[in-house]
Amino acid sequence: MCGIVGVSGVEDAAQQAYLAMYALQHRGQEAAGIVAFENGAISSHKGRGLVSEVFDTDALEQLKGDTAVGHVRYSTAGGNDVANVQPLTVKYASGDLALAHNGNLTNHRDLRERLVEEGAIVRSSADSETLVHLIAKSRHDTVETQIDDALSHLEGAFSVILSVGSTIYAARDPRGFRPLVLGRKDQGHIVVSETCALDIMGADYVRDLEPGEVIRIHRGTVEVLRSLKPANRPAPCIFELVYFARPDSSIWGESVDRARRKFGRQLAREHPIEADAVISVPDSANSAALGFSEESGIPYELGLLRNHYVGRTFIQPQQSDRDFGARMKYNPVREVIDGQRVVVVDDSLVRGTTSRSLVRMLRQVGASEVHFRIGSPPVRWPCFYGIDMPTRRELLGSELNILEIAAKLGVDSLGYLSLEGMVEAVADAGPYCTACFSGEYPAPLLDVEKGLASREGLLQQQN
Ligand code: AMP
Repeated sequence: MCGIVGVSGVEDAAQQAYLAMYALQHRGQEAAGIVAFENGAISSHKGRGLVSEVFDTDALEQLKGDTAVGHVRYSTAGGNDVANVQPLTVKYASGDLALAHNGNLTNHRDLRERLVEEGAIVRSSADSETLVHLIAKSRHDTVETQIDDALSHLEGAFSVILSVGSTIYAARDPRGFRPLVLGRKDQGHIVVSETCALDIMGADYVRDLEPGEVIRIHRGTVEVLRSLKPANRPAPCIFELVYFARPDSSIWGESVDRARRKFGRQLAREHPIEADAVISVPDSANSAALGFSEESGIPYELGLLRNHYVGRTFIQPQQSDRDFGARMKYNPVREVIDGQRVVVVDDSLVRGTTSRSLVRMLRQVGASEVHFRIGSPPVRWPCFYGIDMPTRRELLGSELNILEIAAKLGVDSLGYLSLEGMVEAVADAGPYCTACFSGEYPAPLLDVEKGLASREGLLQQQN
């Protein structure tokens, strides 16, 4: 997963991109980069780490101009090579180009093999570089038609922002898997993954880009260039609403907080339970837990605290306590839990490692009953469209039935939101991609079909 931003016609565009990337940090913590343009001159700064680690005042001051493209990256293991850090930049026949991409192409390996056969030299393992090559080698003579030509070869998920000189182009794939919104600030424009970034920039939300839409932003005007060949139906990713996006964002016209509350309410209707307190696995399940509490009438309590300073990749000391990782991140509030029957609400269950540890922790501080409720259905299938998921075999929901999962977690009861209940709760913004829950993949998995990638989902590059 990744977060992307493009800024056009705004003074100190790189500073604005930096603010946006701070707000998008949850979409990628492994690397960050900004490329800026001023009167045809390009400057860039990129590195591994959080936005606050990669950029300081000096670095930002070097990035001059009123046009910028930024990217925060979240990759799978092995994909964190420095050559993969975006925005990618190249000089080609039409000028300097910078590209930031969110999503996963499902025909990336096939395209890449063909490019290499034709003599292309590839530097990174990211599918985004394939798109750069396709633009650079296009026989068309305008940047617009080159981009159009390149995009027409792609299959899978892409929300993409490009800058050629000081002109910004932005596009969403025909199914609209990943979000991308247009905003306005002063006389300029912003394109960005989530609306929470517009808030921090002091920009106004204008509209979502439509699935398949390609726009150009230049000299204060936004033009719709064209629409890519439409898919048989749009398929925005429902997991963005379940877990990935920030609750203060609106995705596809649906408030993420409201969507999660609806999931929580529906969950309470589907799996009622008698208990003394509803507690959330913070922070991503807070809204769903509030919804569960509202519907069930069981009070919402702050029963688990999360340490916000534990990085995704902190080094786990050698020690035998198997709950150590989870305990670094979460700590139960004994006074709230002791002697109580608690309903723990989480947004999703993936490997089950966090939940297993949480159950043990809650019992240690005296919970008399621990009931788990999950604000989405069992995750059973890998994602090929850009959500970082483990392989199929590691997904608890693909191997075990509900009773077996409950036994493995050590809970008194377990309930998942049904697929129908989840989709129905947010039907207005659908239809959705529900592949990780249903196994129905809306965009063909061309690399898998050609034997170039595994259906298990392990070898993909994430963006
Ligand atoms: P697990 O402990 O492996 O079952 O992971 C479930 C927890 O991880 C939940 O609390 C989710 O909020 C969170 N989560 C769900 N999907 C992902 C993902 N793709 N990457 C990282 N964390 C996730």
